[in-house]
Amino acid sequence: MTTKIAVAHGDGIGPEIMEVTLAALRAVGAPLELVPVEMGASVYARGERTGMTSEARDTVERLGILLKGPMETPKGGGVKSINVTARKLWNTYANKRVFRTLRGVDSVASRGRHPIELTLIRENIEDTYGAVEHMQTHDVAQCRRFITRPGSEQVHRYAFEVALRKGARRVTCVHKANIMKLTDGLFLKTFYEVAADYPTLVADDLIVDDVAMRLVMTPEAFDVVVLPNLQGDILSDLAAGLVGGLGYAPAANIGDHVQIFEAVHGTAPDIVGKDLANPTALLLSASMMLRHLGLLDCASHLENAIETTLLAMRRCPDLGVPPPPIRATRYRELLVAAIEQTKPTEARESQRERMGVSLRTELGRTQPRVMVSPKSGREEIVGVDLFVESSDPPDVLARHLAELSSSALRMTMISNRGTQVWPTGSAFTDCVNHYRVRFEADGPRTAPELLQLAATVSERARLCSLEMLLRVDGERAFSLAQGQ
Ligand code: NAD
Repeated sequence: MTTKIAVAHGDGIGPEIMEVTLAALRAVGAPLELVPVEMGASVYARGERTGMTSEARDTVERLGILLKGPMETPKGGGVKSINVTARKLWNTYANKRVFRTLRGVDSVASRGRHPIELTLIRENIEDTYGAVEHMQTHDVAQCRRFITRPGSEQVHRYAFEVALRKGARRVTCVHKANIMKLTDGLFLKTFYEVAADYPTLVADDLIVDDVAMRLVMTPEAFDVVVLPNLQGDILSDLAAGLVGGLGYAPAANIGDHVQIFEAVHGTAPDIVGKDLANPTALLLSASMMLRHLGLLDCASHLENAIETTLLAMRRCPDLGVPPPPIRATRYRELLVAAIEQTKPTEARESQRERMGVSLRTELGRTQPRVMVSPKSGREEIVGVDLFVESSDPPDVLARHLAELSSSALRMTMISNRGTQVWPTGSAFTDCVNHYRVRFEADGPRTAPELLQLAATVSERARLCSLEMLLRVDGERAFSLAQGQ
C-alpha cells in the first residue's frame, strides 16, 4: 500500500537537495506517492501573501504529510514567513529535532568522543513566537508571551510518547520557571501532570542556562528534552553545532492532523546552483518521516546509506566553514550506490524511534477547535495593572495619581521595567517612560469597576494598556515587582 505525501521543493538550494532526497526515497523503495504542491517564492511573487496556493493548502490538509525544502520569505512588506505560517496554520505544536553523531562527520561531539542520540522537542506555537507585539511608547516595545495549559499538555504528551517509542529512560523538561514563575511555571507544572501518565519513564527538569552548559560538557547524558519555543530554538542550534552544524539537523513539525518534515537550515542563497548544497539534513528529515509512517526498514536503510556516503566523502561542507569542493551531485551518486549495496538490517538501530507516534487525524474538520482544559479554578478579579506613559520621576507620577487611590482600590505599587520604584525603590534604578501602576482591592471586583478606574487614570496620564489581576482558587495569579 502506498502513502500519498505532499512535496514542496522549496527555494534556493531547496530543489537541489530535494532532488537527492527523492532519488534516495525511490532507491530505498519507500512506498510513497509524491504529490507536488506549490509553495514559496514563486507564489509570493504572484502576490499571494501567505506563500502558498489554495490548492497546496487543500492538498496538505487532505494528505496530512508535507515534505518540504527550505523557503525564502520576501523581505519587507510585512509578509510573514511561510515556514512559520505553515507550522501555525496546521497547529504543528511540537518541533522534533534529532541530533546524532554521524560516522564520517567531523564534529565537536565526534572529536570529544561523545556519541549523541538526543531528541529535542520544542513547543512550536506559543511563547514569544505568537509575535503579539506593540509599541507602548515611542521608546518601549512589548512582546506578549503566551504559555497555555492545553498547548503545553500537547507538546509534553508528544515528548513522552516519543520517549516510549525510542526506548528512552528519561524525559527532561527545560525551562526558566525560577524567573518566569507563571508562564514557565505553567509549562513545568503541566509537564509533571502529564508525566504521571507515564510511570515507566523518569521525568525531571532543569533550568535552561544550566542545560546550555551541560549540553556542551555532557551531551550524552540527555535523552528526550522538551522545551518552550524560544529556549528550544536556541538550544537546538547549539545541539546542531555539536553534531556538525545545521547541515546535519533534521526536523519534524508534528500536529495532530498535519506533520511537516524539513531541514532546519534555510535556502542558502549564496551557494545556489554551485553544486555545493549539503543534502544530509533534508535526507535525515525524510528518514524521520519514514519512521513516522512506520516504514522502519526504509528509514534504517536510508540512514545507513547516508553514513556510508558521509564516510566515503569523509566530510561534507559544514555550515559556516569555507566548503571543500564537495559536489551535491557526487553525494547523490554515492548515496544511491550505498543504498544499492547495503541492507536495512545492517543499520545501527539502537535508540532510534521504532515507530511513529500514532496521532489522531480529523478529516473534514470545518472549524478551528477551542481547547479548554477542565475548569478547576475559581477566578476572581482583584485589581488591575495600568501601564501609562510618563516622563516624570516615580514619586511625581505617584502624587499625580494618589487621589485616585481609595480604600476600595488602593494604589499599591509602581514599577518600571519590572522593578518597583514606588512606594520604595532606589535612586539608581534608571527608568523609561513606561510605568506599571498597580491598584489592588481587598476582595473581588467587577471588570467594569476597573475599566472605570482606567478611564479616570487615562484623564491624567496616557494609558498604554492594562492587565486585570486575578486570584485563582484564592491564590495570587500575577507576579510581584522586583523588590516588592
Ligand atoms: P541559511 O541556513 O540559508 O544559510 C546560512 C549559511 O549556511 C549560508 O552560508 C549557507 O550557504 C549555509 N548553508 C545552509 N544550508 C546549507 C546546506 N544544506 N549545505 C551547505 N551550506 C548550507 O540561512 P539564511 O541565509 O539566514 O537564510 C536564507 C533564507 O532562508 C531566508 O530567506 C530565510 O528566511 C530562509 N530560511 C528558511 C528556513 C526554512 O525554510 N525552514 C529556515 C531558515 C531560513
